[in-house]
Amino acid sequence: MQFHDSMIELVGNTPLVKLNHVTEGLSATVLAKVEYFNPGGSVKDRIALRMIEAAEESGELRPGGTIVEPTSGNTGVGLAIVAQQKGYKCVFVCPDKVSTDKINVLRAYGAEVVVCPTAVDPSHPDSYYNVSDRLVRETPNAWKPDQYSNPHNPLSHYHSTGPEIWEQTEGRITHFVTGVGTGGTISGTGRYLKEVSGGKVAVIGADPEGSVYSGGSGRPYLVEGVGEDFWPDAYDREVADEIVPVSDRDSFRMTRRLAREEGLLVGGSCGMAVVGALEVAGRLGPDDVVVVLLPDSGRGYLSKIFNDEWMADYGFLEEGGPAARVGEVL
Ligand code: PMP
Repeated sequence: MQFHDSMIELVGNTPLVKLNHVTEGLSATVLAKVEYFNPGGSVKDRIALRMIEAAEESGELRPGGTIVEPTSGNTGVGLAIVAQQKGYKCVFVCPDKVSTDKINVLRAYGAEVVVCPTAVDPSHPDSYYNVSDRLVRETPNAWKPDQYSNPHNPLSHYHSTGPEIWEQTEGRITHFVTGVGTGGTISGTGRYLKEVSGGKVAVIGADPEGSVYSGGSGRPYLVEGVGEDFWPDAYDREVADEIVPVSDRDSFRMTRRLAREEGLLVGGSCGMAVVGALEVAGRLGPDDVVVVLLPDSGRGYLSKIFNDEWMADYGFLEEGGPAARVGEVL
């Protein structure tokens, strides 16, 4: 019989798929590492699994323990799946601006979600930060993974994402492009690829315009899951050779093209990363192999990026680029 012992065994080993249409006119090969094939639908399953297993080994997470993390998105889903399979409870703390769909996904996996008001000062006892700290202090046997400072976030990529890409490309990858959020993906995967190639693989980060990684001050942008207004410990400043800033408009238009031209219904940070990858590929030749990591699925963004009214409200549908309306014939 062919089966897996649990969903946990399906974390990682995601496929590489060649981009054939958005790459028109380019001579380099561009391959997408499609992370929505993970059981929780995103790259964050990798860090959830490694952070939990490392905490079990160190004794920080004990049988029957409770995982407390301020997260509303992909990391929460990964933690919820691994936690339920291993018998831990999860409590996630979210600001009230998070959509009910996202909260319902976490609850569907059995997690408890505490919603905090956004409109209070960070020092207020009900603020997002204070509530999660208080829950860690007051819950018996609680453990907070803290993806922003946990070394097992980048290490999960050093031990899984990096080696997978090297083996899948048979060592022919020349450039690795990924979005930067906590910095775990670029730091761990990038460090592995540099080490194994003797420094030959170039590592490029894609970042929302306005975020600190591309020299901004933390100015607001709409792409979710990437960019920061501070420098997390999980980000290794030595790894990236270059950071490419990408606008919301270009990110979302490319996200829509990936769905209609490549059959890839992915999230906005994926469109952003592909814009960065194509910019890099434009300078390269036929022997170059660019791998771009696509963190999650587009299902969580149907009412935003894939909704014409939402796009039009921000002026993202106006002429001046290659993407069209959802219903428009190309
Ligand atoms: N895209 C999405 C949708 C994400 O959730 C994340 C994780 N915050 C990233 C990209 C960036 O990954 P990392 O945190 O490893 O830098």
